Amino acid sequence: MTFTPHGKHLIDGQWVGGDRSFASDPAHGPAHDFAVGTPELVAQACAAADAAFDAFAATTRTDRAAFLDAIADEIEARADAIIEIGTQESGLPAARLNGERGRTTGQLRLFADHIRKGDYLDRRVDAALPDRQPAPRPELRVIQLPVGPVAVFGASNFPLAFSTAGGDTAAALAAGCPVVVKGHSAHPGTAEIVAEAVLAAILRTGMPAGVFALIQGGDRKVGEALVTDPRIKAVGFTGSLAGGRALFDLCAARPEPIPFFGELGSVNPMFVLPAAAARADEIGAGWAASLTMGAGQFCTNPGIAVVMDGPDADRLVAAARAALEQVAPQTMLTQGIAKAYREGVERMGRSNAVTAVATSPSEGRNAAPNLYETTADAFLGEDHLAEEVFGPLGLVVRAASGADMERIARGFPGQLTATLQTDAGDAELARRLLPLLARKAGRVLANGFPTGVEVADAMVHGGPYPASTNFGATSVGTLSIRRFLRPVCFQNLPDYMMPADLAG
Ligand code: NAP
Repeated sequence: MTFTPHGKHLIDGQWVGGDRSFASDPAHGPAHDFAVGTPELVAQACAAADAAFDAFAATTRTDRAAFLDAIADEIEARADAIIEIGTQESGLPAARLNGERGRTTGQLRLFADHIRKGDYLDRRVDAALPDRQPAPRPELRVIQLPVGPVAVFGASNFPLAFSTAGGDTAAALAAGCPVVVKGHSAHPGTAEIVAEAVLAAILRTGMPAGVFALIQGGDRKVGEALVTDPRIKAVGFTGSLAGGRALFDLCAARPEPIPFFGELGSVNPMFVLPAAAARADEIGAGWAASLTMGAGQFCTNPGIAVVMDGPDADRLVAAARAALEQVAPQTMLTQGIAKAYREGVERMGRSNAVTAVATSPSEGRNAAPNLYETTADAFLGEDHLAEEVFGPLGLVVRAASGADMERIARGFPGQLTATLQTDAGDAELARRLLPLLARKAGRVLANGFPTGVEVADAMVHGGPYPASTNFGATSVGTLSIRRFLRPVCFQNLPDYMMPADLAG
């Protein structure tokens, strides 16, 4: 089945065109025209979301769960067409996108189950103490309520799982918040067909039409108008530090500031401790595989490996180099991301602080892997070496001692993940590093690689700035629903007005 996009926005259940259009820039296959988003269209979508809020917030958890399940079903019903246009637009292989589609529908169904169970409401009741001295205590009941309409920015690197009906959208809808999506211009056709699936689910389950909108991009004003619209109460974003920071600042400068949940990526350092370094060959090869997965375009890409200097470090570098030399250039998500990768490689190449281990030229929209190494002192002397280069670029930092490793760990800015390769013989150093890394990262893992983020109850995909703009939150897993809820305490409420979720 071939899907030909009509190129319109989805607002209040209607497909809406426009005067101006932009052409998609697929990695392969035909380009299509899409209507450019405008601040006026954003305002219409926000008004519809606001109008739908009361009714949507009042739906039962059972009905919202059925809606989420229906979106998952409608995505599955369009699976072949989604994969066809998704692979064309993103250049990602079909196998990867199929996995991402399963992850997307899995997320929707996980949130459906999560809200059916109701634990997320975090209900707490303090019984009244009428005889307490010196003053009686009233009855207090707290529950989590939806914050209001939420803006979601589609992410270039996850056209399905972090975009139109991805994790942010699933979490917000589960919470009872209408969603206005700003489509990413890297995959507008994929956004359109997924929006079509959401609309079908709205119609099937009788939800208010305003609960979901898709505004295509093509103009920076779209994102600005969306985060500054007074009806929007929170924002979910995955993307660059510069873009995320600009939008975060706009949210903070509003007359009514709102939370901006930006996931901005990191270098995800991996520390290879001395005893574990006996496995240097295996770790080096595994690191290279993680580094090049999806052309290195994962937020959890482990860009930096810190290794104790010596023969084991030499073996790790050799194993990584041998594995990277086997990796052919891969298509990147957009021309812009490919250009940013080339610039990152050039910056690394110009630095006197690093030595090139294996370099290969990247041309056009392709990225070839690159590997560099440096010492602890040189690394700590140049801040830019700890910055993310989005793509398959690795840097090995040779530490001279455990104290060096601690200095390096302390020096990192906030990270999504930090990894320890450790064996029993490393216990003392591992225990010293653990609290340092836990202070820096949202997820600390042992003896694995950070790419491949489980969608689960205990997952945290976030971390101190600049990994994210909100260290108290995660953008993956069921805890991510908390971003779109706020606690409301009901004091001494008579039974006849008690919300159903608080009764009993
Ligand atoms: P991006 O430039 O941050 O764009 C993400 C979204 O935000 C797009 O919809 C973009 O709109 C919008 N936006 C960005 N800056 C804005 C501004 N000042 N005002 C209003 N809207 C704004 O990210 P990207 O296009 O996905 O990729 C660019 C770079 O981001 C990559 O090279 C990579 O370094 C990084 N990145 C990191 C991650 C990660 O998880 N770490 C993921 C993806 C990308 P437009 O489309 O109109 O520009």
